[in-house]
Amino acid sequence: GNEYRIAVVTGGNKGIGLEVCRQLAANGIIVVLTARDEKRGSEAVEKLQKAGLSEIIFYQLDVTDAPNIGRLADFMKARFGKLDILVNNAAVIGVEYVHDPVDVSVTSDKEFSGMDASQRLEWMCKNSRETYDAAKEVLQTNYYSAKNVIKALLPLLQASPDGRIVNVSSMWGLLRLFNNEELKQELNDVENLTEERLDEVLARFLKDFEVGAVESQGWPVGFSAYKVATAAMNAYSRILARRHPELRVNCAHPGFVKTDITRNSGLLSPAEGAGYVTKVALLPAGGPTGVYFTLGAEASF
Ligand code: NDP
Repeated sequence: GNEYRIAVVTGGNKGIGLEVCRQLAANGIIVVLTARDEKRGSEAVEKLQKAGLSEIIFYQLDVTDAPNIGRLADFMKARFGKLDILVNNAAVIGVEYVHDPVDVSVTSDKEFSGMDASQRLEWMCKNSRETYDAAKEVLQTNYYSAKNVIKALLPLLQASPDGRIVNVSSMWGLLRLFNNEELKQELNDVENLTEERLDEVLARFLKDFEVGAVESQGWPVGFSAYKVATAAMNAYSRILARRHPELRVNCAHPGFVKTDITRNSGLLSPAEGAGYVTKVALLPAGGPTGVYFTLGAEASF
């Protein structure tokens, strides 16, 4: 029957993704926890099962691997015939820290104590660098791969009476970080925006990155590829929401969370951050679509 609900979470082995899996399962939803690494993923599932959450299944998924996405879709179709909730959580940050390698879990508290959020972020910007290859990887993982996952699972979401997509987003994708008015307008003009135009925007960004024109062309500075990829994902979510009124497609910023991606500099726990994502995933039927949520509340892109 169709009385149970089923969710897929990408990057579910640690951080916010793991806690989203835990919280969805605690709400009675069958969760397919996916992770690119078989061992890390199945260990995460075991951990949740030991905590009493039995309705969790592991499926290996590297979101950058198209055939792998296809296999997940086939598995979901054969096993469940539908998907109610897709949480696109997997992402990379695309910077290396100048004095790595260090054990962040040990050093972070010492490193960041006494600093507020903006000081911590400033520290991260100052002490990191972005390479062209890493920038490309960020666009590929955070934007193009998430889009591929959505496309492959779309028919199954449409087979649900209440299909939802939650794209884990970030305040770093907000348009106010862009200093190029034309670009901002282009990304905000959801009526005329297309996937092809987004591809062009991203290609332009990479060209500018390559020639050192990120700042002069008005792209966000510091973690620039991450910010641009997030803005693209936000824009795509809005396109998708318009194209598929039968689905709920929303973006959720989890807050500044203590995970590996922030080098454990965040101020919220992974469970707190995940709470804001889970809240959007579990909104009552008929709720908003094409919306950006920050800390669980609607805000503008
Ligand atoms: P983590 O680094 O702890 O988790 C990132 C997850 O993504 C890991 O499970 C990682 O897997 C996975 N991942 C990366 N690349 C791939 C891939 N190619 N295929 C499958 N999985 C992949 O960071 P967070 O938990 O903080 O990040 C979760 C989400 O939250 C991200 O989308 C991030 O942008 C967003 N976010 C986080 C904020 C924060 O303050 N922490 C703020 C705003 C947004 P693996 O372990 O194998 O590397």
